[in-house]
Amino acid sequence: MAAKKFWRCNVCNDIHYGVAGPEICPTCNTPNAYVEITEEEAKKVMGLTK
Ligand SMILES: [Zn+2]
Repeated sequence: MAAKKFWRCNVCNDIHYGVAGPEICPTCNTPNAYVEITEEEAKKVMGLTK
């Protein structure tokens, strides 16, 4: 079973957590827009770090 990772849409900054990023962003409908990011970067984007 593959490890889950964080993915970020490079168009609208939507964060997805899973084995792979969505083929099409559910927020902005851009295909193949997701790039893999670190958990730390995901928390920053989501505003969870201070
Ligand atoms: Zn998007």
